[in-house]
Amino acid sequence: MFSHLPPYAGDPILSLMEVFQRDERANKVNLSIGIYTDGRGIVPVLPSVRTAAAEIAKEVKPYVYLPMEGHGGYRQAVAQLLFGADLPAPEHLAVVQTLGGSGALKVGADLIARFFPQPTVWIPDPTWDNHIGIFEGAGFKVERYPYYDAATRGLDFNGMLGKIDSLPRGAVVLLHPCCHNPTGVDPTREQWEQIVAVIEKRGLLPFFDLAYQGFAESLEADIWPVRECVRRGIAFFLSNSFSKIFSLYSERVGALSVFCPQKDQAANVLGQLKLTVRRNYSSPPMHGALLVARVLSDATLAAQWRAEVEEMRLRVRDMRSKLAAQLKTAVPDQDFSFLLKQHGMFGYTGLSAAQVERLRNEFGVYAIATGRICVAGLNDGNVARVAETMAEVLR
Ligand code: PMP
Repeated sequence: MFSHLPPYAGDPILSLMEVFQRDERANKVNLSIGIYTDGRGIVPVLPSVRTAAAEIAKEVKPYVYLPMEGHGGYRQAVAQLLFGADLPAPEHLAVVQTLGGSGALKVGADLIARFFPQPTVWIPDPTWDNHIGIFEGAGFKVERYPYYDAATRGLDFNGMLGKIDSLPRGAVVLLHPCCHNPTGVDPTREQWEQIVAVIEKRGLLPFFDLAYQGFAESLEADIWPVRECVRRGIAFFLSNSFSKIFSLYSERVGALSVFCPQKDQAANVLGQLKLTVRRNYSSPPMHGALLVARVLSDATLAAQWRAEVEEMRLRVRDMRSKLAAQLKTAVPDQDFSFLLKQHGMFGYTGLSAAQVERLRNEFGVYAIATGRICVAGLNDGNVARVAETMAEVLR
């Protein structure tokens, strides 16, 4: 019956995680997967989340189904967090709870594919690998726009803007509002202003994928391009994830928001989103949404959580500085200042695939073949060794 099924080659990042777990070297370091670990190298339970979990545990209620669109209090709290003072009126905004950021991308992609036949999405080159899988899986043709410039280790802004300025009306453009995965390279505010202006001029449909709000500059600054689209009346899709910024990876909490500049379209969009959910998995799970809703709706817990996000952001920035400084000492003839310009959990190191392989085989330091490292996996206990071993393969 199943003899024609080929083996699954495995996900490049998740497979590496399995190899890491089998590695018996005591000083191994995992910088491959996108997980934030704290100064002790542990995935934290945020204290705000711990308090919310304890409160919720005291109020066990029947486990009835959530509606297709998810938990009402959660959807409201998420919209408030995302849009703040720019929160659109309900007749302009459709928000559904999703299974993490991945679920939001899938529901959004399915909806677009159903109503805009033979869709194409333009994604940055490079991007998070699963963007390709999710959009292709939903029936999209996937095209790329220039993004990373290996020569400057920065943004190829002219290439990016030029390409976006050549796309046909209605084209879907996937954008990372902050902390670009995998490069850590983001447009500046002035560059975003130009990108949004081109999107508006050409009548494109931006699909923002926000997995790291608060990890670049602040919760507000990092979502600026999205809010600018609200202010300018540009329709968009926005997927957001709480996996990293609430450290709730396994709970699968995220949301998909669709902004509808024309009044009274949001009701039909929400209806079609519900149908998309119904056809896929019927309705989302509750616990993770309750945790996030409880934290965001309680002024004390919300303030505590904001401080926790800031603490994570600053810890990663500190690790960038330490890595760059120690690399500079070890390899004085090379420039590592680009590491400090990158934002968020990830960074491109400029290491080649062969150098990454040496790091893993000889030293047990795991990075991705593209040279991407998860800076959030560094801590005071391993950064010196990572710098030394990187220097060793760079010399
Ligand atoms: N988008 C980007 C850019 C990501 O980096 C990630 C997580 N690696 C996701 C989406 C998916 O988030 P989640 O784990 O919540 O599905």
